[in-house]
Amino acid sequence: MSKRPTPKKQQSNSSSSRRYKSFQNKARKRLIATTNITKCPKCKEDKLAHTACPTCGFYKGRSVIDKDREMDKITKVKA
Ligand SMILES: [Zn+2]
Repeated sequence: MSKRPTPKKQQSNSSSSRRYKSFQNKARKRLIATTNITKCPKCKEDKLAHTACPTCGFYKGRSVIDKDREMDKITKVKA
């Protein structure tokens, strides 16, 4: 005799997916809580807390990463 009982009916797709979605939501919430994702006050994009914004290069109200200089560097490598 098996330890676990045999299921009487096959589980429907909706009930399986509902269980999986609740697991997925829990995992997503846990990931957001541990990584501290905030919105950039300048461009309103998602960014990590206490770091410069990767899209606009601003941190604490001033430009930290010069985006134009980075473009020059890329063109130098190509030429
Ligand atoms: Zn930004």
